[in-house]
Amino acid sequence: MSERLPAYFVSHGAPVVALDPSDPTHRFFRELGSSLSKPEAVLVISAHWEADAPHVSGVSQPETIHDFHGLPADLYRVSYPARGAPQLAQRVVQLLAEVGIHATVDAARGIDHGAWIPLSLMYPDADVPVVQLSVQVGMGSYHHYVIGRALRPLRSKGVLVLGSGGLTHNLSEVDVDASSKTLPMWAEEFRMWVLHAIERGRYEDLLRYDRLAPHARRNHPRGEHFLPLVAALGAGDTGKRVHADVAFRSLAMDAFRFD
Ligand code: ZN
Repeated sequence: MSERLPAYFVSHGAPVVALDPSDPTHRFFRELGSSLSKPEAVLVISAHWEADAPHVSGVSQPETIHDFHGLPADLYRVSYPARGAPQLAQRVVQLLAEVGIHATVDAARGIDHGAWIPLSLMYPDADVPVVQLSVQVGMGSYHHYVIGRALRPLRSKGVLVLGSGGLTHNLSEVDVDASSKTLPMWAEEFRMWVLHAIERGRYEDLLRYDRLAPHARRNHPRGEHFLPLVAALGAGDTGKRVHADVAFRSLAMDAFRFD
């Protein structure tokens, strides 16, 4: 495949999104999968795989990980039986080595909910191989941007680079019973700052979002759900918002496409 695929950042939200066809983000993931030409493989940079240094999943048949607690039983029965792509994992290691980043292949890692929420809706037949790449909270934004830059050549090789996190993500501020589609002011101001920075190409500001963006710490106490956005940013040049919704009072469910 020679067509250059865009890179994406998606807010994956709560696992219930995967099982609720009335959820706007559920519908967005379904439409996204059917609107793109089918990739050879997907590389997911997931907020739910944290490591001290980059790890790449290299299993040929990864298992589905149910990495959450206290949710409805149906969610623990979700199985996403996509194959892995060990050769792609090796290629990721190689590309990162070229920019001086040492990455390790993990021979056991399965597919976490940061990956299977969007993928089970984008590719319900599980016919696109999946590789995951970890985030390193201790290494900050610039490190993840460099990773994204290094992964760019994959977009011309039929690989969909998908950052999966959350545009806002403070679990102590969620309300699972809330149905309002209006964010609290501190989350909306942050969301709009990020949106404008992406649309106006202020990528250097985005790399210092933790110091420049309004209420950055309140929206991202640790940053693990924001870093996949920074990696997706690095994998493309121009970004635009392709989906917006609000869940559980304070979660902005926005998604961005990077060409
Ligand atoms: Zn998450």
